[in-house]
Amino acid sequence: MTSQTTGTAPTAERRAHPLVRIEGLHKFFGDHHVLRGIDLTVNRGEVCVVVGPSGSGKSTVLRCVNQLETISAGRIFIGDELIGYREHGGRLHDLTPRQIAAQRREVGMVFQRFNLFPHMTALQNVIEAPVQVKGVKKGDAVKRAHELLDRVGLAERAGHYPSQLSGGQQQRVAIARALAMEPELMLFDEPTSALDPELVGDVLEVMKDLARSGMTMMVVTHEMGFAREVGDTLVFMDQGAVVESGHPREVLGNPKNPRTQEFLSKVL
Ligand code: ADP
Ligand code: MG
Repeated sequence: MTSQTTGTAPTAERRAHPLVRIEGLHKFFGDHHVLRGIDLTVNRGEVCVVVGPSGSGKSTVLRCVNQLETISAGRIFIGDELIGYREHGGRLHDLTPRQIAAQRREVGMVFQRFNLFPHMTALQNVIEAPVQVKGVKKGDAVKRAHELLDRVGLAERAGHYPSQLSGGQQQRVAIARALAMEPELMLFDEPTSALDPELVGDVLEVMKDLARSGMTMMVVTHEMGFAREVGDTLVFMDQGAVVESGHPREVLGNPKNPRTQEFLSKVL
C-alpha cells in the first residue's frame, strides 16, 4: 500500500506541478476488492510506467483515471479537477454525463486492441472525434490529421482502411486519433502486447517521441527498455496495491521488494 519514491528526486519545479493525483483509490467489482488503496502522482511532462502481474489491477487504474469505471473510494484529480465529482457546500456531487464527457476529452487512451472504426480510412478515424465531438471545422481537422499521421510515420497511409494496415500501423493510427483531441494526458494499456514482435519497435518509437515532446503519459507495458529510456517513474503493482515505485533505473537495477524482484526476474 505504500508508494515509496526512491532514486532521482524530481526537480522542485516539477514536484510542484502534478497533473494526475490518485489518492486512496479503491475499486470493488461486487465482493472482489480489486484496487486496495492506490496512491500515485504523475507530474506534468512525465512518463509513469506501470508494471505488474496479470490481474494486479493495472488496467483498472487506467480505466478509473479515464472514467471508464466508477471508483469505490478515494479521489482522482487531473490538474485541479476532481474526476467524476464536483465539490459544493463541502459535499461531493456526481457530475452529469455531459460534464464527465468534458473531463474525458482531456484524456487520450490507447488500448491493447486498436479498435479503429473499420469502415473509415486512417484519416477519417483521426478526424472523427475532433469534428463530431469538438466541432472543429472539417478542413482544419483534415490538416491536423495529416500532420499527426506524418508524426506517427503514416503520411502515405491516410487513405487506407484498417484492414489494409498492419497491427503496428493500426496502433499508430490509434495514437494519432487520440492525439487529435489534444489531450493533456495520454494513457496506454499494453499498447504493444497484441503485436507481432517485428511491429513493436515502430509503435514504441512513436511513444518515445511523444514522451520526449513533453506529453504526460501513464503507460502499462512489459517493455522495460521503454521504461528505462523515457520513464520518469516505474510503479510495480501486485494484488491491487502499489508495492514499489521510483526511478526506473533504481527499481529495475535495485528492486527492494521481494515481489518486485520475483516479477522482474521473469520479464527482464
Ligand atoms: P491487469 O490489467 O493488471 O491484468 P485488471 O485491472 O484487468 O488487471 O484486473 C484486476 C482484477 O479485476 C482481475 O482479477 C480482474 O479479473 C478483475 N476485473 C477487471 N475488470 C472487471 C470487471 N469488469 N468485472 C469484474 N472483475 C473485473
Ligand atoms: Mg490489463
